[in-house]
Amino acid sequence: KKYTIEDLPGVGEATAEKLRENGYDDLMTLAVASPKDLSEVCGIGEGAAIKIISAARKYADVGNFETGEQILERRREIQKLTTGSKNLDGLLGGGLETQAITEFFGEFGSGKTQIMHQLAVNATMPKEKGGFDADVLIIDTENTFRPERIVQMARAKDLDSDNVLRRIHVARAYNSHHQILLAEKALEMAKEFPIRLLIVDSLTSHFRSEYMGRGSLAERQQLLNRHMHDLLKFGTINNAVIAVTNQVSARPDVFFGDPMAPIGGNIVGHTATFRIYLRKAKGGKRIARLIDSPHLPEGETVIQVTEDGITD
Ligand code: ADP
Ligand code: MG
Repeated sequence: KKYTIEDLPGVGEATAEKLRENGYDDLMTLAVASPKDLSEVCGIGEGAAIKIISAARKYADVGNFETGEQILERRREIQKLTTGSKNLDGLLGGGLETQAITEFFGEFGSGKTQIMHQLAVNATMPKEKGGFDADVLIIDTENTFRPERIVQMARAKDLDSDNVLRRIHVARAYNSHHQILLAEKALEMAKEFPIRLLIVDSLTSHFRSEYMGRGSLAERQQLLNRHMHDLLKFGTINNAVIAVTNQVSARPDVFFGDPMAPIGGNIVGHTATFRIYLRKAKGGKRIARLIDSPHLPEGETVIQVTEDGITD
């Protein structure tokens, strides 16, 4: 028998709906949920949550193991997308990796959206120029996509700007649920177009404004976690680069060093494979710092945002 969430103890129609609404829509998600989050988000007792989780663990399909050989095979296909800056490519060990999420975080005006535009142009370039000769999907949450900027950047690289624009597919996300839905739909889009770059600019803005205050934090983190995993799944299935942007907010508890921290905290940090912190410097320059990479050294480099796009 194939089990569904309705088969879990104490889960009737109303609870099932509540679970689904909050992203707990399959047994595996419930199997790995924390009782505290589940009880807070769905408004059920912690005892009931524990019963649901342990039953979900029993019923969840654990046929998700891959052999080391299969994983190695998949990792052999990893490719790197140029950022347009040799300095930044160098910091990243050659560019943005496919099958991973790269997060750019920084204050307003630090150049996150400019970098996303440049990556979109670069992905359409041929392989010998550091691109993928592929299509691009952009989930735009702040209405900051500008085709005019794509034209400028494409011309600077001697590309046919009409052709570049034709390969970039943009969807405006009006709220966090819409954003999550678009990420799910991206998988279908990839069947129709050869999409090898998925951009979410910004990953966190809707979540931040919709889930304010401590009470809704667990729910926000749960949804963000789900969303990040959908994005990573897209990257793995399509051997695609996932590039996301994130804002920073001041942490009132930091007295020494830089008090600016990315939104989304641990959830975003643990799922993003590469995190780059952008800071403004003098004369259009930006300092990019690589943080917490699994296999690259931490370090900083300088890039520039110019009329022609991202350069050294
Ligand atoms: P963020 O997304 O991090 O808030 P943006 O990527 O929108 O920031 O960066 C905006 C900055 O990019 C501007 O303040 C400006 O310095 C630079 N910029 C934007 N367009 C151009 C351009 N056409 N030529 C040169 N610099 C530009
Ligand atoms: Mg922006």
